[in-house]
Amino acid sequence: MPIDILISEVGPRDGLQSVQATMPTADKRAWIDALHGAGLREIEVGSFVPARHLPQMADVAEVVRHSLGKPGLTVMALAPNLRGAAAAIAAGVHKVTLPVSASEAHSLANVRQTRAEMVEVVREVVRLRDAQAPQVRIEVGLSTAFGCTLQGPVPDDDVVRLAAALAAAGVDEIGLSDTTGMANPAQVRRLFQRVRAEIGARTGSAHLHNTRGLGLANCLAAYDVGVRIFDSSHGGLGGCPYAPGASGNVVTEDLVFLFESMGVATGVDLDKLIRARALLQAGLPGEPLYGMTPDAGLPKGFVYARDRADR
Ligand code: ZN
Repeated sequence: MPIDILISEVGPRDGLQSVQATMPTADKRAWIDALHGAGLREIEVGSFVPARHLPQMADVAEVVRHSLGKPGLTVMALAPNLRGAAAAIAAGVHKVTLPVSASEAHSLANVRQTRAEMVEVVREVVRLRDAQAPQVRIEVGLSTAFGCTLQGPVPDDDVVRLAAALAAAGVDEIGLSDTTGMANPAQVRRLFQRVRAEIGARTGSAHLHNTRGLGLANCLAAYDVGVRIFDSSHGGLGGCPYAPGASGNVVTEDLVFLFESMGVATGVDLDKLIRARALLQAGLPGEPLYGMTPDAGLPKGFVYARDRADR
């Protein structure tokens, strides 16, 4: 089934690492099976970090092993450093994603390294990949690309310069992340256009948050300037929501509805995706889930993009 955009599901990583509870491994497996069953073809299944930092991710290698058995699925994992990337590659992932802060203040606070030092780390990861597993793709998500709670605005020039340095270091995909939910559609359009002008086809996913209610508007703005990979989270899980009661990550269910209803094929079955919320909830009892499409249901006469006569 041809798709027009790729939705990269980040719930099992971005979502699970942001909640207090640890989802049991069997529940993670069942949830990932249901996400794949709903048609998602790229899932970030976990993070290769020491279990003492994130006990939620202690079973990541096992979850990767399980996910590798799903046909047609690109299995991704996050790694914050060379050691994590080596473990991810050893576990057999198809794609490793590394976070690099666009804001110097965020970089120092988060990983105690400057942005330039992080570019060096990424260069070492690329070297490791080239030597051991040339088929593995390396992605960088530029966090705080649209603003930072520590330093405030992040200059566009900083983001573009960093993207160019990472492309030169051999990174395959460089995406932009609105880590703190500060982006607006005009800014999303401008920054993706500038980054694409600088690094072309290496421009990666839009990782946008809904902290202030602009998540879907920002996704649409990115789509309008040619972005075709979108990160989102099932049930809107995670994404470090700073405003109490607000969701962080863009909700996968709402994102699928946005695109399918306007005739853009995602390959995702919304009924199955909404039903899969029961498995997410079973693994994380009491955790609030977000999304408006699951509450409202599909409108009468809803037609998937693939089934539309004008396609
Ligand atoms: Zn996020």
